[in-house]
Amino acid sequence: MTTGHIYGWVRDHRVHHKFTDTDADPYNARKGFFFSHIGWVLVHKHPDVISKGASIDLSDLKQDCLVVFQRKWYQYLMLFCCFIIPTLIPWWVWSENLWCAWHLNMTRCVINLHTILSINSAAHMWGVKPYDKSISPTENAVVSFISCGEGWHNYHHVFPWDYKAAELGNYKLNIATAFIDFFAYLGLAYDLKTASVKIVKKLCSLKQRNKLK
Ligand SMILES: [Zn+2]
Ligand SMILES: [Zn+2]
Repeated sequence: MTTGHIYGWVRDHRVHHKFTDTDADPYNARKGFFFSHIGWVLVHKHPDVISKGASIDLSDLKQDCLVVFQRKWYQYLMLFCCFIIPTLIPWWVWSENLWCAWHLNMTRCVINLHTILSINSAAHMWGVKPYDKSISPTENAVVSFISCGEGWHNYHHVFPWDYKAAELGNYKLNIATAFIDFFAYLGLAYDLKTASVKIVKKLCSLKQRNKLK
């Protein structure tokens, strides 16, 4: 079964966070760059991913009618939203050659896909680890830039509940935060949680102390 719908993606993402760098991690970076980038899509899941993944609470997703709807009609929605509509828009709006429009859209898909996948690969291999050195996720500015702010991954794994997915709110390298803040301003995004400087400093000094022991 595909994991491209919201339900499957969130389930795998929660498993990735809970069992980072183990066999139960769907994108286990310990298996190398290719596996964590795209190899995991090409092979059957490790049995631990399935068994330990079954222990993850997904009740909130099952109660969300939008998530349930998107999962039920995923194959059709994906076909229309990813391929048919983006190809037809340039053809309709500025009379683009249909052949060119199709290939432009396919190029967009490939670039977008590899950008997102680089969070699981590059941002688990190259970069600094100011928050927790014992895990593979890193702070990677290049991944952050191309993925609109999702490359501050060491922070994200230590504070997964922080909506900014980064300690510093620099909009230039964190457009996703600007996007959420804009909708919070409109009142459409709410209950946003973020770690205070005090909590971040306390955790970092705790980890440093544990290392010195
Ligand atoms: Zn990760
Ligand atoms: Zn995450």
